[in-house]
Amino acid sequence: METGVLANMQEFNHEQVIFCQAKDVDLKAIIAIHDTTLGPSLGGTRMWPYASEMEALRDVLRLSRGMTYKAAAAGLPLGGGKAVIIGDPKKDKSQALFRAYGRFINSLDGRYITAEDVGTNVFDMECALLETDFVVGTDPCHGGSGDPSPFTALGTFYGIKACLEKVYSDSSFKGRTFAVQGVGSVGAALVRHLVKNGARVVACDIDADRINALKQEVSFESVTPDDIYKVKCDVFSPCALGGIINDRTVELLKCKIVAGGANNQLERIEHADMLKKRGICYAPDYVINAGGLMNVFLELEGYSRERCERMVQNIYHNVARVLKIADEMGVTTARAADVMVEQHLDKIRQSNRMFTMHQKHVLRNVHRKR
Ligand code: NAD
Repeated sequence: METGVLANMQEFNHEQVIFCQAKDVDLKAIIAIHDTTLGPSLGGTRMWPYASEMEALRDVLRLSRGMTYKAAAAGLPLGGGKAVIIGDPKKDKSQALFRAYGRFINSLDGRYITAEDVGTNVFDMECALLETDFVVGTDPCHGGSGDPSPFTALGTFYGIKACLEKVYSDSSFKGRTFAVQGVGSVGAALVRHLVKNGARVVACDIDADRINALKQEVSFESVTPDDIYKVKCDVFSPCALGGIINDRTVELLKCKIVAGGANNQLERIEHADMLKKRGICYAPDYVINAGGLMNVFLELEGYSRERCERMVQNIYHNVARVLKIADEMGVTTARAADVMVEQHLDKIRQSNRMFTMHQKHVLRNVHRKR
């Protein structure tokens, strides 16, 4: 495998990678813009103590490509981008660092719009916001839309509904059993929707406090993190980490559907084939968990919670479409989602002139809202 930056960019055809450093504030960051066919690239900034620059580069390339696919599958006029800051979020943060970072984002003049991600928070983004308008997901008092997790959970709920309809010809949650892995921001909100709609929920979390806190609000059973895979259920819902559908776990599952809010659920794409072979319907993660992205996107258009709720409901149709394409093509749902996105991107590339006008329209709104 080639190890140069450009060779790595060529692997998935990334448009641009920007290396940023400011010695005085110890900023070392990489911004990756994967594809702006559909619109300005948008994706969060991750802060992580990467062991090497190459590890950081590989991560930002992978994550930015994922954002292109998520935005396209959601039907949003956004491209895919992501950034990583190399450093320990517990020790290396400063306001000056995030302001310097904000100036780099500003220099891209809207080709990349950022938000919080693992290792960064609303306060960090508000520091960047002092230097650039191209930040979304900030607190409502700064014109942002706040925490996107409730919308990620709501979209996941609608996506599950489409899976239930497909597998049981009945989209009702009543009496169905769900095994939910992780009751953090997304998982807890999803459990609330499930219980409210009459489902039986069995959940786990490595953090017992999270389970106990949620039990104060809604009624559900809990199991250990190791036992969650073995729960006999209709739907297994990953809402914690990525890579949890793997060689070991795929054989343990006792469900008809895998559908949850976590990113990168499949350790490798072949695990989609293994799920299909076992007759398990898989809702591709980037299609079902796009509710949070829809929420921050609406900041660019003029935010409205009602409009966001309506948009997030569409995830039902987005998931249903992917399941139908998979049937028609005889491929896994993961492959069907990729094909759907790639065909959409190709079509838009062919009508490039119209898109350029739209991109300008989106960015005009960024400036107008401040
Ligand atoms: P979070 O940190 O609030 O919650 C994650 C929860 O998972 C925590 O409670 C943690 O203790 C638990 N957990 C970690 N490892 C576990 C394990 N092995 N078994 C059981 N529980 C475990 O994060 P979140 O914002 O709820 O995000 C959850 C997932 O959804 C992540 O994969 C994230 O990338 C993805 N996602 C989140 C959003 C969003 O809007 N927050 C949007 C899209 C995708």
